[in-house]
Amino acid sequence: MARIELVDLAHAYKSNPTAPADYALRPMSMEWHDGGAYALLGPSGCGKTTLLNIISGLVKPSHGKVLFDGKDVTQLPTEARNIAQVFQFPVIYDTMTVHDNLAFPLRNRGWKEIEVKKRVQQVAQMLELTGDLKLRASGLSVDAKQKISLGRGLVRPDVAAVLFDEPLTVIDPHLKWLLRRKLKEIHHELKLSLIYVTHDQVEALTFADQVVVMTQGEVVQTGSAQALFEEPEHTFVGYFIGNPGMNLLDCTLDDGGVRVAGQLLAVSAAARAALSGAQGKITVGVRPEFVECVKAGEGGDHCLDATVTAVRNMGTHYLAEFQLGGATVAAKLRAIDAVAGNAVRLRFPPQRTLYYVNDKRVA
Ligand code: ADP
Ligand code: MG
Repeated sequence: MARIELVDLAHAYKSNPTAPADYALRPMSMEWHDGGAYALLGPSGCGKTTLLNIISGLVKPSHGKVLFDGKDVTQLPTEARNIAQVFQFPVIYDTMTVHDNLAFPLRNRGWKEIEVKKRVQQVAQMLELTGDLKLRASGLSVDAKQKISLGRGLVRPDVAAVLFDEPLTVIDPHLKWLLRRKLKEIHHELKLSLIYVTHDQVEALTFADQVVVMTQGEVVQTGSAQALFEEPEHTFVGYFIGNPGMNLLDCTLDDGGVRVAGQLLAVSAAARAALSGAQGKITVGVRPEFVECVKAGEGGDHCLDATVTAVRNMGTHYLAEFQLGGATVAAKLRAIDAVAGNAVRLRFPPQRTLYYVNDKRVA
């Protein structure tokens, strides 16, 4: 297991990059602690696989360094980095038994057969593969084959880190749910450093202690599920995490607060101080979970007039949509006595309302 540091790391696949868009990874520096469970989360094409491949040594970065426990490994090949990898599709030996597939990385390192057996049993048990150990891999379903790949990734206790690149893509949805939870348990039990790439927020949030959110080659926030939900540091995090994501409304500064679609919204003293002198695009953000709907004419000065455009009963809550000037606002409500077409007031609780300047949070 190792502490992983990325120092001024950047990567362009093009030979003469000039514009920021030429970079698959924009300059980044960060440190991931030993024994952590990290997820790299972001939409397709944002640079997740590139970052993972730089850590494993499959891709050499154009700039910067990768350090494992303080040691510069940037120029070392994958084999010399002591890394285990699990890919989207099963990588196993079809002609070998399940047991021998799991044993391979250990035998390869010269483990004694008695120790191999013990460790293979432990990992097989965690992944519910004990009943299949004697079977030849070729006859198994793709789900079982991918479980073997996971097992092969997890079997060595002495790796610097195990890297997973969207490993549950081929897995049946029900088993996917179970495996996600399993991987979390395995992390606690085996105490390995895990880095897990996914574009699926549920997968990232269930698996990881720390989620690294990426967009367009940049890391915009690293945090716990709670931090990403309650205090998104970037509008992208607000919008990408949550279902539906955060309501983000353009606004302008005004003496009394901010102006949203022509209406004045009062802001807290702290937010006012953070916004004073702001240059550029200002955005007010509030999650659908925190928006309140009150009757027209009520609610005080943290409210805006809006019109109900849709109300859907989702079983556990109502998902309501409102029109506010040109913008749409979503709210998850316990109860709503308004119907589409009604005029209402939307309350943005000041302690749950966040402010962004050029997409970065200031208050
Ligand atoms: P993700 O894994 O988040 O989907 P990738 O790291 O695969 O993203 O890709 C990031 C960007 O780099 C994309 O624009 C992609 O087209 C580009 N890219 C990825 N691999 C290569 C490559 N081998 N050669 C050229 N461009 C690449
Ligand atoms: Mg990828």
